[in-house]
Amino acid sequence: MLQQTQVDRVIPKYQAWLKAFPTPQALAVASLHDVLSLWAGLGYNRRARMLRDAARVVVAEHGGVWPSASEVLRTLPGFGPYTAAAVAVFSGRERIPMIDTNIRRVLLRWTKHTNATPAELIALAQNYQPSTHVDEWYHAMMDLGALVCRSRPLCLVCPLAEYCPSAGNVIAAPKKRRPVRFHDTRRFVRGRVVAWFVEHQRGTLPQLVADIRSQYRIEQIRIEEAVGALLEEKMIRRSGRALRIAS
Ligand code: SF4
Repeated sequence: MLQQTQVDRVIPKYQAWLKAFPTPQALAVASLHDVLSLWAGLGYNRRARMLRDAARVVVAEHGGVWPSASEVLRTLPGFGPYTAAAVAVFSGRERIPMIDTNIRRVLLRWTKHTNATPAELIALAQNYQPSTHVDEWYHAMMDLGALVCRSRPLCLVCPLAEYCPSAGNVIAAPKKRRPVRFHDTRRFVRGRVVAWFVEHQRGTLPQLVADIRSQYRIEQIRIEEAVGALLEEKMIRRSGRALRIAS
C-alpha cells in the first residue's frame, strides 16, 4: 500500500483493510469487487488482487499461515525479490540485503561505489548491515534516503557526513522537466475505469466510456486502452457485449 502513496492516505485504508480481512482466510475468500472497493484511492489496484491471490496460495499451500522465509515468499503472487526481502527483514525473521531506491542512493554515496552493479550493491548492503537489529537499520537507511540523502542531498545536516566520502561533493541531478499532470497519466485513467467497475460491477463499453468522458473529460482512446489492459490482466472479463469485474 505504501509504494508511491503517502502515509496519511494509506493509514485509514490499511486499518479498514485489516478490519475486513483480519486473516489470510478472510482475504482468500473475498471477491475482487470487495478487494478493489477497499483499495480504492490507493492506485496500482493490481496489487490488491495479487495480495488476495497470495492469500489464496497461503491458505491452499501453507496451512493459512504466511510463510516466513524470503525464498518461499518469493513464490507467492505479487512477491518480487524486494517485497519478499522487505517482509522477511521487517518482520525480524531474516538478515538479508534489502534495497529500494532510497537505500541504494545512500549506499552508493556513502561507499563511493557510484557505478556498482546490482550484484555489487547487494554485496555492499550485506557488508555494511549490522549483525542485529537489521530491520531498524533498513528503516533508518530508508528514512535517511527519503529525508536527507535526497537527489539534492542535505549533507550539512546529515548524521553520516563525518564518515561519508561524498559529503558536500554530490553533483546534483539536473532539475526534472515539468512533471506530467496526474490527469494525463495512464494510472489516472486506469483508476477511473476500475472505480467505474467497482461502482457498477458490469456494463457495456459505450456506457463506461460515456460516463468517464463526461465526468473527467478523458479521450475515448485512453479509456479503451485502459479497458484493454484490464482485460489482458483478467481484472475484468467480457461476457457477450457486457464487461464485468472479474471474480
Ligand atoms: S553526507 Fe551527504 S552524500 Fe553522504 S550520506 Fe549524508 S547526505 Fe548523503
